[in-house]
Amino acid sequence: MLYKSTRGGDANLPSMDVIKQGIASDGGLFVPDEIPGLSMDDFRMLAQEGYRERAVKVLSLFLTDYSQEDLTRCVYSAYNLEKFDVPDIAPVLKLDDQLYILELWHGPTCAFKDMALQLLPHLMVTAAKRTGEKDDIVILVATSGDTGKAALEGFKDVSGTHVVVFYPKEGVSSMQQLQMITQEGANVHVVAVEGNFDSAQSGVKAIFADKQLEQKMEQKGYRFSSANSINWGRLVPQIVYYISAWLNMLKAGEISEDQLVDVVVPTGNFGNILAAYYAKRMGVPIHRLICASNRNKVLADFINTGIYDRRREFYKTISPSMDILISSNLERLLFELSGGDHERVKTWMASLQSEGQYRIDDDSLHRLQEVFWGGYADDAQTLQAIRSTYQEYNYVLDPHTAVGKWVYDEYRRQTGDDHKAILASTASPFKFAGDVLRAILGQDAVEGRGEFELLDVLSRVSGLNIPLSLAGLKEKNIRHTISCRQDQMKDVVIELLKIDEV
Ligand SMILES: *Cc1c(COP(=O)(O)O)cnc(C)c1O
Repeated sequence: MLYKSTRGGDANLPSMDVIKQGIASDGGLFVPDEIPGLSMDDFRMLAQEGYRERAVKVLSLFLTDYSQEDLTRCVYSAYNLEKFDVPDIAPVLKLDDQLYILELWHGPTCAFKDMALQLLPHLMVTAAKRTGEKDDIVILVATSGDTGKAALEGFKDVSGTHVVVFYPKEGVSSMQQLQMITQEGANVHVVAVEGNFDSAQSGVKAIFADKQLEQKMEQKGYRFSSANSINWGRLVPQIVYYISAWLNMLKAGEISEDQLVDVVVPTGNFGNILAAYYAKRMGVPIHRLICASNRNKVLADFINTGIYDRRREFYKTISPSMDILISSNLERLLFELSGGDHERVKTWMASLQSEGQYRIDDDSLHRLQEVFWGGYADDAQTLQAIRSTYQEYNYVLDPHTAVGKWVYDEYRRQTGDDHKAILASTASPFKFAGDVLRAILGQDAVEGRGEFELLDVLSRVSGLNIPLSLAGLKEKNIRHTISCRQDQMKDVVIELLKIDEV
């Protein structure tokens, strides 16, 4: 399997190069030349296997230049009971006869980003080794809250790698911030950036595109890569859990082989839902992909109108990991919708850059709407979804997943669609204990309580144990205090890596 850029610049690259490089040299994203399929026989066989065997199978179809032994080793190093707190890795919980929750937050940082970022470092280090890479890999990360911590945990003390994480100073939850600024490891740096996630993401993209800096880095024996979902090595592991969820339901007799299901995904950068789209293309009988946005509803508007317009106010919400106006991974979907027409993709992306918006053609819009449905929930609706789900099912949703739940209910109300649905649950409620408790118990119950006291209260309310990685933060020292403006990010990288020194 070979890869090419969505903008036509790079072509015929094996997956190891693509994973090492992160983003294509023309600024586009890497996509596979074709999307491999799984037959019903494959599915029947995989239904009898565990998560890891399923992962090895799916990875082997996309990452064909890795040996089976390498993939197996990577997968077993990533998905095990030292890192995850359930043997199923990504369990499916039945909420009622209609709706199933795919819990993606049983990893070390309590958000779905672990599903990919526990694996990516192994894939990257293996790629470096097998291709005779001499340079150290420097991972630059822009985070809306969860990617940063997951990348830090995944790459900490991995030899031959360094990580620099940029997070928006005012844009992450207190627990998310605490998770990052207490991060241990000799090869990690965490920097607060003034502005929102888009500022951090644009700053990182500008550093990637800086040829002069790249040269300087080379002289020092460094090369950049990305652990954001623009890296193909982040997306493939995410395809696995949609396939696995469907297989779990099949095996449990909840659905039959030819029964279509809907998939609901709370969306920000469009990576997670794109993985579900690839799963559909591979043969999982998915009917609709329901794209749930928070008040930053640029994607919902796009799906409904075909116009992507980022020129709008940015809102800080209680689902901060979805506070995004430039959804990078949409570019991969546009490539597919346009039938692989990289010229058209390039035109749209250029228009987004210069005008802040683009409009896709009617054919592409039609194809988009055949598969995707977009909706959104504001903060009040998000809180209401947490409260009503708790009252009805005694199940506690985090605010991101609650956005998905609200939009799903709205979807069913508007369309009458009664397919069974899988809701991707993207974070543990303990990561956002304050807002979750405000929804369930009211403002008074939260007022004046510290972050760790809230964890205790939520544990009592939900009947769940506090994840050890969050409870343990109480004892940790703050190790990262640097902050900067977007235009200073490059200088910070130069300083942290000591690139200017001779
Ligand atoms: C990152 C994140 C999202 C958004 O996922 P995308 O792949 O960026 O669409 C949703 N919820 C949580 C908790 C996240 O961390």
